[in-house]
Amino acid sequence: MEQPKAKVPYSLNSKKVADATMKWLQKRGVTLTEIAELVMLLQQKYYPSLTMEECIHNVEQVLSKREVQNAVLTGIQLDILAEQELLIPELQDMISNDEGLYGVDEILAFSIVNVYGSIGFTNYGYVDKLKPGVLERLNDKSLGPCNTFLDDIVGAIAASASSRIAHRKQAEREKQHGEDTTDSDR
Ligand code: MG
Repeated sequence: MEQPKAKVPYSLNSKKVADATMKWLQKRGVTLTEIAELVMLLQQKYYPSLTMEECIHNVEQVLSKREVQNAVLTGIQLDILAEQELLIPELQDMISNDEGLYGVDEILAFSIVNVYGSIGFTNYGYVDKLKPGVLERLNDKSLGPCNTFLDDIVGAIAASASSRIAHRKQAEREKQHGEDTTDSDR
């Protein structure tokens, strides 16, 4: 009798997770430039010389964090399962209708802003209310795809990149003044 094959021990492949994150954001129609535009909107008034390149760079840095990748993939997966009507019926109804009393999409997004502290939280609240740019499109229910999780995730990435810029700019300022800086590597 054939012996059952031993299960290959699990080991995390970081690069695969990172690549999948970028691939699935793109597959769901979200570009890094669009996220960077939200960052620009949030930070321009504090840093008038901020460039789109800097915004894109900060979005990429946020997306390089494992916690962020985990949230992106989990959220997109739930949106896709909702589109395929594969969820438990009660959950299916809530997610496909973006039920106002269902807040797990926001909670998942918090796992992204959590990495970047309180500025991330306030910026997230701001874009979540205003829904500018790409968030308006992701929230448009008439367009077809289910983006119940993705809109919060994109807002949280932009909010986190904004927070990262604020912390970095402070660190740069302290360095310029020859002071010790303690907050430069988030
Ligand atoms: Mg949502």
